[in-house]
Amino acid sequence: MDFIIPAAEIKTLPVLGSTRRFPVHRVYCVGRNYADHVREMGNDPAGEPPLFFSKPTDAVVTDNGDVHYPPRTRDLHHEVEMVIALGKGGSNIAVEDAADCVFGYGVGIDFTRRDLQKLAKKLAGPWDLAKGFDDSAAISALHPVSDMGHPHDGEITLEVNGQLRQKGSLEDMIWSVPEIIAELSTYYVLTPGDIIFSGTPAGVGPVKQGDRLEAGITGIASLQCDIVAPRAALP
Ligand code: MN
Repeated sequence: MDFIIPAAEIKTLPVLGSTRRFPVHRVYCVGRNYADHVREMGNDPAGEPPLFFSKPTDAVVTDNGDVHYPPRTRDLHHEVEMVIALGKGGSNIAVEDAADCVFGYGVGIDFTRRDLQKLAKKLAGPWDLAKGFDDSAAISALHPVSDMGHPHDGEITLEVNGQLRQKGSLEDMIWSVPEIIAELSTYYVLTPGDIIFSGTPAGVGPVKQGDRLEAGITGIASLQCDIVAPRAALP
């Protein structure tokens, strides 16, 4: 192909036990999927169904990568989440068929400009500026279902500089993985390569330049990343 400008780089994730990589298509996210986090954000879990938003694919940062502190915020927050990677897609997928779409699982951090999210909520505006910025989606290597099956429980944790900040259990998710895939597939035609962040447990909080983050889910995956200086302005 003779492109008029250089084509953007394809984002890919390593796969545990393989030299082949997973090409990322879209990045979807579920909000409000753990009751304790819904409450810490001042909402009522009974009255607030999970909601969806998305991030640009080039927001992806891989394991041991650098997260540049983003501009226009003073309150960058971590949200540790299980990540679902789709090997098959479709639309209007039945809940009982949805697990078959999953290629593998990983752990990720949904970085959030919390101050901009508070403003968006107040103005009833979109969340894009709060959620969909450069380096806002850190994702581990993927653990294939063919090797580990589907997780039903397991501890999900996040440490900042060795201090435990978030700890939850996958069994506390309000919507299960098949329910998330089925519901999302009523809004979008899902495709192989799509990634879904599945929501965060309680304990979200701020990070700053120089912090080292370690995320993990028992038996699934682990992820490290560093918060580094803001990206230099392009000429
Ligand atoms: Mn989140």
